[in-house]
Amino acid sequence: MAKIKTIGLLTSGGDAPGMNAAIRAVTRSAIFSGFKVKGIYRGYRGLVTDEIVDFKTQNVSNIIHHGGTVLKTARCKEFATVEGRQQAYENMRKHEIDALVVIGGDGSLTGAREFAAEYDVPVVGLPGTIDNDLYGTDHTIGYDTALNTVMWCVDRIRDTASSHERLFFIEVMGRDAGFLALNGAIASGAEAAIIPEISTEVDQLAELIKNGFRKSKNSSIVLVAESPITGGAMGLAERVRKEYPQYDVRVTILGHLQRGGSPTACDRILASRMGAAAIDALLEGQRNVMIGDSNEEIVYVPFSKAVHKNKPIDPELVETLRRLSI
Ligand code: ADP
Repeated sequence: MAKIKTIGLLTSGGDAPGMNAAIRAVTRSAIFSGFKVKGIYRGYRGLVTDEIVDFKTQNVSNIIHHGGTVLKTARCKEFATVEGRQQAYENMRKHEIDALVVIGGDGSLTGAREFAAEYDVPVVGLPGTIDNDLYGTDHTIGYDTALNTVMWCVDRIRDTASSHERLFFIEVMGRDAGFLALNGAIASGAEAAIIPEISTEVDQLAELIKNGFRKSKNSSIVLVAESPITGGAMGLAERVRKEYPQYDVRVTILGHLQRGGSPTACDRILASRMGAAAIDALLEGQRNVMIGDSNEEIVYVPFSKAVHKNKPIDPELVETLRRLSI
């Protein structure tokens, strides 16, 4: 394998708080180990359209506490084509980039895996997504911050909701993954979470109505993961209006609020550790792996596992929420 001299770095897909801390960690660890770093703007799009600049330690000064990503992010259809990836590879050669570090979610790491299968380029991924839906890592960068934001928002909605006898559906992000909804519900003391992982087995709305919207409480708050299976908060509210018209239902969709804000200490530390580990992985000759954390240890997860396997929800958490909402 050719010796790595220059590492290209990009953030791709949905932004997540802590991406900047990861950019800083990758850049500084790489320079510390004697590599050159090239920052690639706007994800794979910048690789295809050649938006690539030298990155020095100063480029990443004063960014650890900012949400978003200084490298910007984008979605890039061209990269999903053979021609687009060919163009990306040519730009890598032009800038003498020998290895890539990709910070992003499921889609970005799928793209990384495709690229690595076609070209002899070591690629290391960092899990950057608020959804926490990548297999092989206990946490993804951005999840803890988003979870705290969800908790903060639900606390405020509860204040205003408590004087009404209402059923509140609060929709959180987590494209087909219930981590934010379930843990957000536990953290905010919500009555229930409706999550895609168990939507095909149980009619969670019927269960909720059966067990629970009790008159002894002023209001019921239910966190709902956005999901085509349940139709999200809007879909469920529609069902309540038709099937259980005795309930006064309200919907709040937290949306992009959940993506913003200064990363929590947990996310900054996770991103810093993972960024440093990405450079260790390249030094060890690893390729086509995502950096993960498992029981506080850094682990290398092959892309094929990280993106293809579904990360299970812990049934103990589902049970805990059920018990605490009586
Ligand atoms: P996220 O990384 O947050 O899941 P996306 O799913 O939008 O975000 O993916 C980000 C980018 O990754 C896409 O715009 C595309 O450039 C690239 N990508 C996703 N899937 C593939 C694929 N199957 N092949 C090649 N590139 C892909």
